[in-house]
Amino acid sequence: MNNLFVYCEIENGIIADVSLELLTKGRSLANQLNCRLEAVVAGSKLDGIEKQIMPYGVDKLHVFNDDRLYPYTSLPHTSILVNLFKEEKPQICLMGATVIGRDLGPRVSSALTSGLTADCTALEIGSHEDKKQGKIYENLLYQIRPAFGGNIVATIINPECRPQMATVREGVMKKEILDENYKGESINHDVNKYVSDTDFVVNIISRNIEKAKHNVKGSPIIISGGYGVGSKENFKLLFDFAKVINGEVGGSRAAVDAGFCDHDRQIGQTGLTVRPKLYIACGISGQIQHIAGMQESSIIISVNSDPNAPINAIADYVITGEVEDVIPKMIKYYKKNSK
Ligand SMILES: Cc1cc2nc3c(=O)[nH]c(=O)nc-3n(C[C@H](O)[C@H](O)[C@H](O)COP(=O)(O)OP(=O)(O)OC[C@H]3O[C@@H](n4cnc5c(N)ncnc54)[C@H](O)[C@@H]3O)c2cc1C
Repeated sequence: MNNLFVYCEIENGIIADVSLELLTKGRSLANQLNCRLEAVVAGSKLDGIEKQIMPYGVDKLHVFNDDRLYPYTSLPHTSILVNLFKEEKPQICLMGATVIGRDLGPRVSSALTSGLTADCTALEIGSHEDKKQGKIYENLLYQIRPAFGGNIVATIINPECRPQMATVREGVMKKEILDENYKGESINHDVNKYVSDTDFVVNIISRNIEKAKHNVKGSPIIISGGYGVGSKENFKLLFDFAKVINGEVGGSRAAVDAGFCDHDRQIGQTGLTVRPKLYIACGISGQIQHIAGMQESSIIISVNSDPNAPINAIADYVITGEVEDVIPKMIKYYKKNSK
């Protein structure tokens, strides 16, 4: 009762990274709240799925194993969570801000008349004083996310409604195994008790998933270009550089909007969240919406013609100059020094 739940997404028998990241965060929040971390997984052929989930410190795993539950469809998965939560009364439920989470979260939250904050960038535990009512709420989930176009960072709370629900995008939280041999309990639920036959009205006949053309998200080195790169032609310089140092190319929204690079490479609040070992920001000013997606990079190098560009404040190294001059030199000297 009143535990912290994480809904785990599954694709081809593999638990999604975002779910493992949320289990990691969920474990630390559950420790602070002195409650148990519970996970829910619904799909088919789930034998042995515990091995992927328990090492993240899960105390109890709810398994719903039925051929009809994979691939994901809205109604059965919603019924599972809604009916399970009516029994278990969790205080918190976390899920990925993915295509599935964005569909499932609001359905569950509206069925249970709870609150939901989408796309949180941080989750913390704290108290709240309602001065009007003279009431103090302890141990609330602070659901933190940029608001008003990224101009403020808002902390959102649900003082009364339960569960407190939040979605988080992939890459925002860190994924960390707690203990390979962590011992939790696993329960195989009878799906028919939670889902009615009419929930299975949608039948997926064929499914086509296009493979990603690149791996910006997983690359340890990202060369990212902004509006200051100036043109699609100049962006080729960044691709050349990336090839030489085995990296990937990313871009700011301004660069994407200007047609310098593809949208699926955009980094920031409305793009990818990355945490590479090295992030080279070329002609990027460093607005909060961009920084939100790359500030966890281990080393940041800024190449900018403006010595006072805001990104320089978070950069480890700053090169003041024109992208067109600096990048060819970086390629030249990298080649020379790595011989
Ligand atoms: C709701 C919302 C969501 C958003 N989401 C995102 C997001 O996900 N990602 C994102 O990036 N932005 C996002 N934005 C946009 C964001 O606010 C900025 O507009 C954008 O990040 C600016 O991109 P930029 O730094 O490339 O361009 P600019 O701000 O125009 O900066 C260009 C930089 O290039 C430098 N420069 C110019 N010429 C050269 C040169 N020859 N050599 C070197 N440097 C040069 C300039 O000094 C300047 O610092 C969002 C905005 C909103 C409102």
